[in-house]
Amino acid sequence: MKKIIVAIDGYSSCGKSTMAKDLAKSVGYAYVDTGAMYRSVTLYCLRNNWITNGVVDEEKLKEALPSIRIDFKYNQEKKANETYLNGENVEDEIRSLTVSNSVSVVSSIGFVRKAMVALQQAYRETRGVVMDGRDIGTVVYPDAELKVFLTASPEIRAQRRYDELTAKGEKVSFDEILENVKQRDYMDQNRAESPLRQAEDAIVLDNSHMTIAEQKAWLLERFEERAK
Ligand code: C5P
Repeated sequence: MKKIIVAIDGYSSCGKSTMAKDLAKSVGYAYVDTGAMYRSVTLYCLRNNWITNGVVDEEKLKEALPSIRIDFKYNQEKKANETYLNGENVEDEIRSLTVSNSVSVVSSIGFVRKAMVALQQAYRETRGVVMDGRDIGTVVYPDAELKVFLTASPEIRAQRRYDELTAKGEKVSFDEILENVKQRDYMDQNRAESPLRQAEDAIVLDNSHMTIAEQKAWLLERFEERAK
């Protein structure tokens, strides 16, 4: 079997990372969560009070960006990759609703995207990688051998995110999550820089009514077809 690049794009809270992680584990590939990169930059801005009423202090961010280090480390106990921002484990904090509410404004900034895409393209050398995001099949790896575009109804996606956050003890309401999901979809699709769109050669999957096991089996089958 040859080593390939798998690009999984789609709307917010579709379960892209669950599918991508499962596949990477099953086939021994690296998994890269590109949303975590944009979330980490957003957290950095929030901590520095550089976002006011949805407007980012781009000058300050541009100056600081080269010194923002984002790494992924494997947690043996949790059996999962975790995100580190300048050496600090921020895995839980970057998933909070506060970060979710600001991430689309940060990810729409051209110089932020340029820097993140460069980090993501460095994995080309590794080959054997599963990457999820919004522009992986269109911008980061337009030559990926397998591209999947994931979708599900906004209500189902909001319910999944609600369950995930409440399980972690975060106090959130379903309605504010639904609003966030819809708002991020809108912003991600309508930004000028690499907007979220389906690559022409992507396979579309609506997983609204699929179990995680069904999604996993579906993706593994597609992978085996392409990696043959
Ligand atoms: O995938 P996740 O929901 O964690 O992504 C958070 C946000 O990061 C998205 O709503 C989007 O604004 C941004 N993003 C992006 N391009 C990517 C991955 C994420 O613009 N490749």
